[in-house]
Amino acid sequence: MYGRRRRTQHERAPCSSPSLGAATTAFLARQHQAFIGGQWVNAESGQTLDTFDPGFGRVIAKVAACDAPDVDKAVAAARHAFEDGPWSRASGSDRARMMWRLADLIERHAAELAELESLNNGKPLAAVRNIDIALSCEVLRYTAGWATKITGETISLSTAPQMHAFTLREPIGVIGQIIPWNSPIMMAAWKLAPALAAGCTIVLKPAEQTPLTALRLAQLIQEAGIPDGVVNIVPGFGPSAGAAIAAHPDVDKVAFTGSGEVGRLIIQAAAGNLKKISLELGGKSPVIVFPDADMRVAVPGAARAIFANSGQVCAAGSRLYVHKSVFDQIIEGIAVEAKKIRVGHALSDGTQMGPLVSKEQLERVSGYVEQGQKDGVTVVTGGKRIGDEGYFIEPTILTNTRPEMSVVREEIFGPVLCAMTFDDEDLDRIAKEANRTVYGLAGSVWTRDLGIAHKMVRKIRAGTIGVNVHGSIDPALPFGGFKQSGWGREKGRDVLDLYTEVKAVVMSL
Ligand code: NDP
Repeated sequence: MYGRRRRTQHERAPCSSPSLGAATTAFLARQHQAFIGGQWVNAESGQTLDTFDPGFGRVIAKVAACDAPDVDKAVAAARHAFEDGPWSRASGSDRARMMWRLADLIERHAAELAELESLNNGKPLAAVRNIDIALSCEVLRYTAGWATKITGETISLSTAPQMHAFTLREPIGVIGQIIPWNSPIMMAAWKLAPALAAGCTIVLKPAEQTPLTALRLAQLIQEAGIPDGVVNIVPGFGPSAGAAIAAHPDVDKVAFTGSGEVGRLIIQAAAGNLKKISLELGGKSPVIVFPDADMRVAVPGAARAIFANSGQVCAAGSRLYVHKSVFDQIIEGIAVEAKKIRVGHALSDGTQMGPLVSKEQLERVSGYVEQGQKDGVTVVTGGKRIGDEGYFIEPTILTNTRPEMSVVREEIFGPVLCAMTFDDEDLDRIAKEANRTVYGLAGSVWTRDLGIAHKMVRKIRAGTIGVNVHGSIDPALPFGGFKQSGWGREKGRDVLDLYTEVKAVVMSL
């Protein structure tokens, strides 16, 4: 089935594609149940959801569709593991050791996990192997290092210096984690790692489109020796399983990555027991190219910023601002890059860009391009669906865009670049334009002038700024958004704030 190679205008080299390995085939053939309290169980309702290969638009597996009663069971298992189990009392080094073991197991099963992820999500195999799987292991190992360094501090009281005061940092408790489909295993690892390091227990819901690697991960979590009930995986739909987690009175905190629209629902649902919330939401990140930029770096950099993972990246550089003196050169260069991209099935050899994740996403992205055309944009390249099987779309560049257009204002979450010019030297005016968005997740500045670089870094209102690079991801680097791009910072040392409570202790001795 996967020996077929999609032919598109973007393809250059014909090649054969790999068939699925034995481990992947065996995993796909099994029953895909929820993982609760260390047991594999069907949804109480008996319902399942279909999960697809977006390269062909075909069902590849049926997965338990959990709902509120299943979430109740998972939360009870997580609560029991937190209150009565060994996990939250384990030493930091024991927790770290198990996290390292999990990272080692992910590495050992990388080939199988990568195939599963590519098949289910549509991301090219090499990208999953080299980026998603590699970073999942790295984030587990890096964050495991913090497990032994979660400390409070001694405090000199300002009003009662004779008292001994200090703080403790304790795990928040039972954490609900709701993740999206754009980088499923990496999102799971990023969410699980800090919660595990802090000694919390977890109920995680993967996206309905991409539940498979999270379920395979659950097997590895058990194999790594992480006690039953510490991690519970409840696949299901957002409005049922997701909403039940967000509203659950015995969940102490919910960590969410996804759209702002659902982020708002999470906030409302969490109000019942005033659970803690962290949100990693969308973006509409600016890429600003100054005339002195090294074009050999800026052109492929801007292309990667928008076309990586078919544009399904929260930090994607989707708004391009270029000085008018180099605008044509940059656009021409990015268009050449776009046309060179080999679009194909994620498991085919040589594929650089896979399909969008779902029919809905294809319709959404195509709808934005159509609306842009009605509003008067020029399509420099791309804009069309590729073939009629699977959910492929051409890498797309739009010019003659204006700030009020929906393609410029809203997160498209596809390979669609909106390009604009600037023609003055006033950095405040350039930054004002770049900041004209409700989002503030990322941005990048392309220049060889250090003065411009430093000034622009301070003027752009976003959580991650690159200079001559866009959207760097590293386990040590805090990641999160200003404005409507989210609450809190994941990764780095900052993430510990999201999974620990500070307790102040005062002793009259
Ligand atoms: P959503 O925000 O709908 O989904 C993210 C997660 O939230 C999924 O697990 C989803 O479940 C769950 N969810 C949905 N509704 C609820 C609810 N009422 N309560 C609790 N959880 C819920 O993203 P979409 O998949 O619909 O994508 C839509 C748009 O969101 C994209 O086009 C993109 O703009 C943005 N997005 C941003 C991401 C980011 O990284 N910042 C990631 C993904 C999307 P289910 O799987 O059933 O939908």
